[in-house]
Amino acid sequence: MPETHEFQAEIKQLLDIVIHSLYTEKEIFIRELVSNASDALEKLRHTQLTEKDIADADQELEIKLTTDDQAHTLTIEDTGIGMTHDELVKNLGTIAHSGSKAFLQAIKEGGAKNDNLIGQFGVGFYSAFMVAKSVKVYSRSWQSAESGHVWTSDGSGSYSVEEAADLTRGTKIVIELNDDSHDYATADRVKSVLERYSAFVSFPIQLNGDRVNKVSALWLRSKSEITDEEYTEFYKFQAHAYDEPRLKLHFSADAPLAINSILFVPQNNPEKFGMTRAEPAVSLYCRKVLIDPSPKDLLPEWGRFLKGVIDSEDLPLNISRETMQDRALIDKLGKVVTKRFLKFLADEAKNRPEDYAKFYTEFGYFLKEGAATDFTHKEQLSKLLRFESSLTDAGKTTSFADYVSRMGEEQKEIYFLIGPSRAAIERGPYLEGFKSRNLEVLFCYEAVDDYVMRNLGEFDGKKLVAADSADVKLDEKEQEGEALSKDEMDALAKWLKETLGERVNEVKSSDRLVESPAAVLNADSFMTPQMRAMMKALQK
Ligand code: ADP
Ligand code: MG
Repeated sequence: MPETHEFQAEIKQLLDIVIHSLYTEKEIFIRELVSNASDALEKLRHTQLTEKDIADADQELEIKLTTDDQAHTLTIEDTGIGMTHDELVKNLGTIAHSGSKAFLQAIKEGGAKNDNLIGQFGVGFYSAFMVAKSVKVYSRSWQSAESGHVWTSDGSGSYSVEEAADLTRGTKIVIELNDDSHDYATADRVKSVLERYSAFVSFPIQLNGDRVNKVSALWLRSKSEITDEEYTEFYKFQAHAYDEPRLKLHFSADAPLAINSILFVPQNNPEKFGMTRAEPAVSLYCRKVLIDPSPKDLLPEWGRFLKGVIDSEDLPLNISRETMQDRALIDKLGKVVTKRFLKFLADEAKNRPEDYAKFYTEFGYFLKEGAATDFTHKEQLSKLLRFESSLTDAGKTTSFADYVSRMGEEQKEIYFLIGPSRAAIERGPYLEGFKSRNLEVLFCYEAVDDYVMRNLGEFDGKKLVAADSADVKLDEKEQEGEALSKDEMDALAKWLKETLGERVNEVKSSDRLVESPAAVLNADSFMTPQMRAMMKALQK
């Protein structure tokens, strides 16, 4: 007896949009299903390393597509890891896929038109419903004790699951095409889509019995033979992405480890809207075999915006994070790649400053986070940071190194001011004492800057000092006009302290100010005003 399940509310919403969308590039559903098949095969290959009892162990690892233009069906079959009854219910009935989550989030925020969003985020398995009257998923798990099942849905509110006899390990998806989509039951149409999207699948793909792809790992090929289009297609395939990569680094090393790697920076910062946190997405391979698609501690935390692959033949296939020796290898590998990537960014900044500035606008946050938290790479990272300053034009930035090169003989420290905008900082009373002495001040507009400056502490041996902190000592300056006498000054300070009472620590005279009569300075060396504001917000 088939059991019927309701889709989770989010999936219903998603399906409703997918089915009624006017999205023109419906063919992407083939790419989605082939990429799921490829993921399932990778997972099987990995399971084989640790498990002995695998159902149908002798089956070839491959993907087969079959078209039937009489019945108007397209079938996609793989011999991968398969799904148990419970996995069918969980994976195809609830929202797990991060792309679909981001998609729904974007719909909620009501940004672009829905049809565009499908192309931007991808809706994974559910994209099949753009072309389907009904979808049947036959699946049998690698775990030999589990029986096979078939999952069926027409994409409206529910689906059914039923036991199915005579299945071998893997998944077979049969799509009964809707009236507008009959061309996906013809071999020519499917072949042209496969040729475009599936060049990077590392398992053989057959269409109606003929082989369509040649299996090759792009990162092992020589750079000079690879076209930009190939890199872009590879990025899209590998990162499940829909944009073009913003930056690309393809490199090989022999020592201290043998490494072949391609790293990509996407167009946009996925954390820009503060809703999601990016997951590590640089896959770890050993001689073309996927070891981990999302290794948690290979690259530093701040590198979570990167996409791509790292392949090292020096790793054991069954690498384990639990053993010290393997842990040390992973550490070393991560460090070599990180150093190389940081050097690449430094070159970009030097050779293509305008592109670097655009990259920085989008991804600078991650570099700041790294500069504050990643002790190993702090120095390289601090050189990549950029700030506006009292000497730059609005919208233009400078580096610590350039700042230092402009420092006079006498100046020992690097000054910065934190404020919501350039105008706010320039309007405030803190800048004038520095300006009148020709001291440059860096302008920081982001909440995280305070934390970054404190954690960095110094650059090139020069202390980073907040220009509004009480312990900044500026040199004596000739007073213009008439100054108050010492007695008058003391009396004024006493009166101010009495009047302001507990609200201030101390009132004293200073020659920091040029135009303004008085300024509030931060005397608390443990907490800056920015930190206090943050604590207050947290306590609410
Ligand atoms: P994603 O691939 O990003 O996780 P999808 O919507 O494409 O999202 O697929 C949802 C889930 O369904 C997958 O994570 C996987 O667990 C499961 N799945 C889909 N297709 C297959 C398949 N061919 N074999 C095994 N599991 C699959
Ligand atoms: Mg998928």
